[in-house]
Amino acid sequence: MNICVIGTGYVGLVTGVVFSDLGNDVVCVDKLSAKIDGLNKGVMPIYEPGLEEMVARNVADGRLQFSTDLEAAVTKAEVVFIAVGTPPREDGSTDLSYVEDAAKGVARALNSYKVIVNKSTVPVGTGDFVRQVIMTNRRRAVDFDVVSNPEFLREGSAITDTLVPDRIVIGAPNRVVAMRLLELYAPLERPMIITDVASAEMIKYASNAFLATKISFANAVANICEEAGADVTQVVKGMGLDSRIGAAFLSAGLGYGGSCFPKDTRSLLHTAQTFGYDFPLLKATIETNEEQPRRFIRKIHDALGGDDLKGLTVGVLGLAFKPNTDDMREAKSLDVITDLLACGATVKAYDPIAIENTRSVFPHITYGANAYEVAAGADALVVVTEWNEFKTLNFERLASIMNRRLILDGRNIYDPETVRRNGFEYHSIGRVTLA
Ligand code: NAD
Repeated sequence: MNICVIGTGYVGLVTGVVFSDLGNDVVCVDKLSAKIDGLNKGVMPIYEPGLEEMVARNVADGRLQFSTDLEAAVTKAEVVFIAVGTPPREDGSTDLSYVEDAAKGVARALNSYKVIVNKSTVPVGTGDFVRQVIMTNRRRAVDFDVVSNPEFLREGSAITDTLVPDRIVIGAPNRVVAMRLLELYAPLERPMIITDVASAEMIKYASNAFLATKISFANAVANICEEAGADVTQVVKGMGLDSRIGAAFLSAGLGYGGSCFPKDTRSLLHTAQTFGYDFPLLKATIETNEEQPRRFIRKIHDALGGDDLKGLTVGVLGLAFKPNTDDMREAKSLDVITDLLACGATVKAYDPIAIENTRSVFPHITYGANAYEVAAGADALVVVTEWNEFKTLNFERLASIMNRRLILDGRNIYDPETVRRNGFEYHSIGRVTLA
């Protein structure tokens, strides 16, 4: 099939390369010429395991192209995916201007029947909106259909998630249109669900809001555990083994960040409210998540002796919003570092991949080449992102190079007893503090 994917971010680029790998002819379009120039030279705009190799293979085989020419790409496509950003507005609603621009571009190029697929995460009703934009802006009276095919990939495992998704959701106006997409996804041999367009749009938001709620629930339980002398890691383990509950997304920590959960929960809340429903459960999920880094920052202050951190050096381990990505959107490191700097601390930070992206936000802090460089001379070491390489640090070595043996672990990656045995004061989330 001839496919055009509009937007070469995490979703568009990965979708495009996977469809080309399945034997389709794909043109990935972006309005940023620097991104397209880079891709044409083999330079990936994002870090994603396995992406570079898969792009190189499919470009070499002639099935994958990158272009800024939306009109040419749409003209020859049978299926057009819209995978542009849908950022949040101040009031929590979704900014659909990129989707609208993309839809206008499709409308202008419409030369034959095409299936237009909304892959971006968009509020319920956007399928109708896109249909209307295309109807209004098309130059020829050519027929088309709009389908919702929300994306569930996770950054850091985007290729695998796209090749082996738990399910493929296709929201189509009728079965004939749905079959076009079924055909495209058939080689993956994964479960597919066909719904109407509005239901598919809701599935995406309801799923993300539910996962976010699991995380906030674990964090709320952690906050009680701290007071009650229980250990949240044992509690969620005991809960997660119940097959009705499941262990995924049930870890206590600094809360969820990234480009999806924060904006999607706020967007669903906004949608609910526009329909007159206040959604108190989702409100609590969002509030709990916003409170979680504030509680952790208070712990840092308490451990370091107050709000004036002048003269103290804090090492920050992990900057990306989660491991295996360089994405800094709504990363908890931003809250933590902003506070430390405001209170006068000297910050040294390290992340295996996200340093370059962080440098644009915090150009004046010191970046280390590894965890030990950051720990050297520090008065506290703060774990913000649970990269695997932080889980096996040598505590004896840390003890010998730090100014003070203090670890604040925002992701519960260490065994409290082990850390304490090495002479550290250790604070984590939802577990008794060992000094
Ligand atoms: P992104 O910001 O990484 O990429 C979007 C790309 O679209 C950018 O390169 C931008 O230049 C391009 N673009 C915007 N308008 C354009 C236009 N008119 N023509 C051509 N290109 C245009 O975004 P992303 O993370 O890939 O997310 C895209 C959508 O997928 C969002 O709705 C997001 O919520 C959703 N989503 C993201 C993830 C994720 O993990 N990142 C997962 C599932 C769903």
